[in-house]
Amino acid sequence: MTEIKPCPFPSCGSGSVALGFDLDGYYVECDECGARGPYSRDKIEAVELWNQAIRPARPERTAETILRCVFGSSTNGSSVEIRSTLNKASKTVWYWVECVECGAVGMSGQSEVEAIGLWNDLVREAIKGNE
Ligand SMILES: [Zn+2]
Ligand SMILES: [Zn+2]
Repeated sequence: MTEIKPCPFPSCGSGSVALGFDLDGYYVECDECGARGPYSRDKIEAVELWNQAIRPARPERTAETILRCVFGSSTNGSSVEIRSTLNKASKTVWYWVECVECGAVGMSGQSEVEAIGLWNDLVREAIKGNE
């Protein structure tokens, strides 16, 4: 079976994608943002149509330390953890940062470095918004 590529939407990029089926045929759907690829009567073709979508290049990330959570009302900054999961459909490991205290979750990345970078972007945006 052809590997299913991650969600093509730059604001999402999730690897949590899976093949679905309904009365109209097969399609690939993103569990994260609900994006759906074109329908096909053929499983492989549905995956190929999804995979054809243009994906922006992922920026090179340099290793950083995880910034403390700025979401939620708590001031305890030691509550952020790196998590990972194996996506069974695409057989890739995805990483994300999660705050166990307020439940904030960063975007998924294909490496710990990327996941931390995505989380830190989110934190920096939030800090900017509060200024
Ligand atoms: Zn998505
Ligand atoms: Zn938090």
